Amino acid sequence: MRVALVSVGDELLAGDTVNTNAAWLARQLTDRGVTVERVTAVPDRREDIARVVNEYRAEYDAVLVTGGIGPTHDDVTMEAVAAAVGQPMEASDAALEYIETQRGYAREDLTDGTAGIPAGGTFIPNPEGVAPGCHVENIYVLPGVPEEMRGMFGEIADQFSGTVQHVERVTVDEPESALLDRIEELRGRFDVTIGVYPGEYVRVKLSGPDSVTVESAASWLRERVEAPDDQSR
Ligand code: ATP
Ligand code: MG
Repeated sequence: MRVALVSVGDELLAGDTVNTNAAWLARQLTDRGVTVERVTAVPDRREDIARVVNEYRAEYDAVLVTGGIGPTHDDVTMEAVAAAVGQPMEASDAALEYIETQRGYAREDLTDGTAGIPAGGTFIPNPEGVAPGCHVENIYVLPGVPEEMRGMFGEIADQFSGTVQHVERVTVDEPESALLDRIEELRGRFDVTIGVYPGEYVRVKLSGPDSVTVESAASWLRERVEAPDDQSR
């Protein structure tokens, strides 16, 4: 399963808020064997959101959109998604009922449009907040507030699956440039995906569907590189 993530919010593009939602979702999805192929941040602007969602829904098995679903003036994500799928907005009775019975809010106290989702969509409960999410076609709309986003993802997580990758990590205390020959040899010997991430140490990530192959590759590499003194790393 190939998925695209769309993060909505001017504050993400201004650097005011770090896009932890995309990182968290990418990790959750990857752990489930789903391939995340795009992470795109867009401003709180209807046309931009609709354009990107439209492109990605045609290209990927699913699109997860986060942010901009609240009742404030800059929350336009639901309308943008409705425009992308060519549907009008309509109040979800199921969402209103959930908010009333499960979240304890009176209908008349809710801001107008709180339960609005694209027609034909299914509301997704928000166990940590008020604004409902929505599943329409292959698009999932989740809140921006990280706690709410995580809670809502729990409601739909089962719908995302793929071939789970086994992962091994090797930490190396050598310059990246010195490793090139061994990485090349590793690549030739084992059918694994290799990521090399320099930093204080070089972190090598090995992954693949077959655990024996990945573990063999990791052992092979560990025997041939300098490990940091602190073995806990
Ligand atoms: P609300 O219903 O509260 O308005 P919302 O779904 O409209 O929620 P936003 O208004 O986009 O969400 O953002 C709410 C809060 O969540 C903001 O403080 C924002 O900085 C934070 N937030 C939004 N998107 C992200 C993200 N991708 N990663 C981390 N934090 C985020
Ligand atoms: Mg908001």
